[in-house]
Amino acid sequence: MKKTIKTQNPYSGKTLETYKYISDKELDEKLALAQTTFEEWRHTELEERSALLLDVAELLETKKRTYADLMTAEMGKPITQSIAEIEKCALLARFYAKNAENFLADAIIETDAHESFISYDPLGIILAVMPWNYPFWQVFRFALPTLTAGNTAVLKHASNVTGCALVIQDIFEEAGYPKGCFQTLLVDHDQIETVIKDERIKAVSLTGSEKAGKSIAEQASAQLKKSLLELGGNNACLILGDADLDKYMDTIFKARMQNTGQSCIAAKRYIVVEEIYDEFMERLKSKLKKLKIGDPTNPETELSVLARPDLAEDLKKQVDKSIEIGAELISGNTMDGAYFEPTILTNVKPGMPAFDEETFGPVASIIKVKDEDEAYKMASTSKFGLGSMVFTKDFESARYRISDIEDGAFFINDMVKSDPRLPFGGTKISGYGRELSKEGILEFVNNKTVYIN
Ligand code: NAP
Repeated sequence: MKKTIKTQNPYSGKTLETYKYISDKELDEKLALAQTTFEEWRHTELEERSALLLDVAELLETKKRTYADLMTAEMGKPITQSIAEIEKCALLARFYAKNAENFLADAIIETDAHESFISYDPLGIILAVMPWNYPFWQVFRFALPTLTAGNTAVLKHASNVTGCALVIQDIFEEAGYPKGCFQTLLVDHDQIETVIKDERIKAVSLTGSEKAGKSIAEQASAQLKKSLLELGGNNACLILGDADLDKYMDTIFKARMQNTGQSCIAAKRYIVVEEIYDEFMERLKSKLKKLKIGDPTNPETELSVLARPDLAEDLKKQVDKSIEIGAELISGNTMDGAYFEPTILTNVKPGMPAFDEETFGPVASIIKVKDEDEAYKMASTSKFGLGSMVFTKDFESARYRISDIEDGAFFINDMVKSDPRLPFGGTKISGYGRELSKEGILEFVNNKTVYIN
């Protein structure tokens, strides 16, 4: 076992901090605290728990610059996008503050009984294992509804955003949550196995790669514990012949390049009907030329480094391999440390990494198809099932396709995005379970049937 975690600024290459993993004894103490806190927390009034959400929102809004600076330093997100991420967490807190009471109210069901209903009871301590790409959003998306439902939570965050992980615990404590409601664990993968086995842990929520998802879900299922998995995506973005590119090209471009391409729901495969192909390519190249690339701390910057140099190396291998087997490089594909030059690849086909695998960086993979039918067929040619998007003026035809899309989301004339009001999650190897909205707050509860005769 490594004894320390080092965080590094991916833009400057400088070491930021060194942290010590906690010992097994410290881990046990933290779980004990989470358990005793749960016993009290579960009996607090929902009104009280909801009110704390407003304190979280206020704190996030007040200190957004401080939190955003830390995020940008640790994983290279352009600062304006880091600030927007913190603001979105605050919005989420306000959303649940307003709606949790309604979502968690007993659901009356008429039966032969005098009274019968579902009572949504908390489960206990929930473990979250989270990724670095949206270091605040992913954690808050899990924690706000989970805590409000009366559970307590422990977090194992991605190692490269350990500073964010610790600050998030501080946020909950500063907002007034009892100590032990939310704790960050600086633990390695072996210790996570111990945590999952611990009988005080009732369920696991993981956002991350397919590999991590398989490992964590196997460990959880071996203990007969529920898991929720938010895994990778390979979203298709269909550009049909009648797409309104004047209106939507900015959105189409952002769908791939936001967060320097490191988003699970990014448009990883542009599937373009030949009728509009040349026009689309011209616009794509022109947008790429105008992209402001550079220092993530500069508010003008739109795209910067990836979160770690090894991620750039992995991406380069995927692009090189795709080129080797027939994809055409239009521009990009150079790297320097954690920087990966935005890339356009055409002639992308099934069988190439740029089509089959998730490319986690600024790579636009273009698949040319002859018509709408072929476009939809290509879209569903994927092991992933996080979301699809289509750009077309023919709403009726797009609506007609809704039931054919097997993904967790289908967006017509917009990019796939998360919204606190709507459920979020995948199918196939993109995972299972839903976060956000009413569905999200009901993931980690006991749907208890109550029957009174
Ligand atoms: P990752 O390598 O799978 O890591 C995710 C988390 O799992 C990290 O905390 C990591 O810890 C931990 N982990 C990995 N293997 C583990 C194991 N065997 N035991 C215990 N913990 C383990 O993913 P990432 O690179 O951080 O994030 C990128 C991936 O997340 C992409 O595939 C992306 O699509 C996906 N993602 C999905 C969604 C969604 O909502 N569907 C949202 C965001 C991201 P360490 O850092 O210590 O290894």
